[in-house]
Amino acid sequence: QGKVYSMMLRTRMPGGKVTAKQFLTELDLCDQYGNGTLRVTTRQAFQLHEIPKKHMKTVVRAINDSELSTISACGDVNRNVIACPAPFKNNSLFDDMQKMADQLADHFRPHSTAYCEIWLEDDEGGKTKIEEFKPVEEPIYGERYLPRKFKMGVALPDDNCIDLHANDLGFLAIVEDEKIVGYNLLAGGGMGTTPSLKGKTFPALAVPLCYATVDETIAVAEAVVKVQRDFGNREDRKIARMKYVIADWGIEKFREKVGEYYGKELTLPLDVFVTDADDHIGWYEQGDGKWFLGVNIENGRIQDEGDLRIKTGLRTILEKYRMDVRLTALQAVLLCNIEEQDKADIEQTLRDHGIKMAEELSLLRRYSIACPALPTCGLAVTESERILPALIDSLEAELERVGLADEKIALHMTGCPNGCARPYHPDIGLVGKAKGKYTLFLGGNVIGTRLAFIYKDMVPLEEIVPLCVPLFEYYAKDRTGAESFGDFCNRKGAEDLEAYAEKAMAS
Ligand code: SF4
Repeated sequence: QGKVYSMMLRTRMPGGKVTAKQFLTELDLCDQYGNGTLRVTTRQAFQLHEIPKKHMKTVVRAINDSELSTISACGDVNRNVIACPAPFKNNSLFDDMQKMADQLADHFRPHSTAYCEIWLEDDEGGKTKIEEFKPVEEPIYGERYLPRKFKMGVALPDDNCIDLHANDLGFLAIVEDEKIVGYNLLAGGGMGTTPSLKGKTFPALAVPLCYATVDETIAVAEAVVKVQRDFGNREDRKIARMKYVIADWGIEKFREKVGEYYGKELTLPLDVFVTDADDHIGWYEQGDGKWFLGVNIENGRIQDEGDLRIKTGLRTILEKYRMDVRLTALQAVLLCNIEEQDKADIEQTLRDHGIKMAEELSLLRRYSIACPALPTCGLAVTESERILPALIDSLEAELERVGLADEKIALHMTGCPNGCARPYHPDIGLVGKAKGKYTLFLGGNVIGTRLAFIYKDMVPLEEIVPLCVPLFEYYAKDRTGAESFGDFCNRKGAEDLEAYAEKAMAS
């Protein structure tokens, strides 16, 4: 028997919006063609794993038939546009951010007919949906597309639940009289690094570029993308992201160049910054008399395993109530539009399948994410998703012991330095460096506005918790007011933390 190739298939879903029917289709596909699991990614999308090559076309067509698509979910184009998924209806802010995400996704979608020709034509040459894709030149990407992937995200200053600063282009909503009047565009975020190219590659947070009114926003974004298209490095993919253009030029020159492409000088960004983030887990009144329920899915993996039957639990609820769902960038699902009288049944169904409610989960677990790594990611050097739950069990126990069980601490873990779970800016970052060994980052924050520093490199998995124990004790003893763990570590710095830990371990 020859080799059997299998692939990962990612669905593009701007703002994480999905209907019950589409969700159920993906669940069917993972059972029929994949490895029986469906994964919520850190960019509000679904991933199917281990789809045999011979079934790829069938699965891509089924996803398109459900009115979702896999187009530009990967590749050197604008990827899935993320946006705050909370379905609040008491003002227009949340709908407007979703609308912006849809507009950006649509505007920057590749126009080539290749996707349809390859995936959607049936064997007899029937042109499923091909009429939607007129054969035109790529108006934005040109002949060669972008030098590298490009990421966009939309958020509110007081709810950066999507880690805006980790995107090539972030849209920070400017609100006046409960209306979004424009956006501060933040440019040059990106997580991936190559350790062998230290100094040449690095994680970066997006910096304020300009302000644009709602009407100007897409055109300014197009100018930014075109500057990256024309000046991003095409010789070396490792330094091809837009953050390296900005690092080379400085933000002023970059702003000037974008202004040239836009056709007029850009307006300087307003003094508005990210101040908070919410994971949207638990029950929330939507503002229209209905409710939504945020359900934490550990590391986004929807599966049935032992007593924890997330896949069956969600399927049961979706088949019965047919509600819309939103995926979060912290790999959770929001079940939307729930009537007051259905709340108890939905909650009980989840509990019957072993799924915990908000109040039963530590904030550490709720704000933690992991990339898939082994065994499904070909780039992984070590474990991530499969070992994070046990690691959190141990860290939770230590936090409880020092009276910090209720602290909001974000831990992001990846199986290699590419950083798909954004590990370089939370309170604690763990980045796979070699088999069973991690770089431990500290000093970032939950709101994603500060890069963490390396505390220790090449830490064996079994030493991560012992390394954190004295730091938790130090934090409990020496924090000021409501200072977060990341702020505390940032204030103390690596040297001080290390000195304290050494002393504590010696005594
Ligand atoms: Fe794979 Fe590395 Fe991304 Fe994890 S961070 S999913 S191991 S490429």
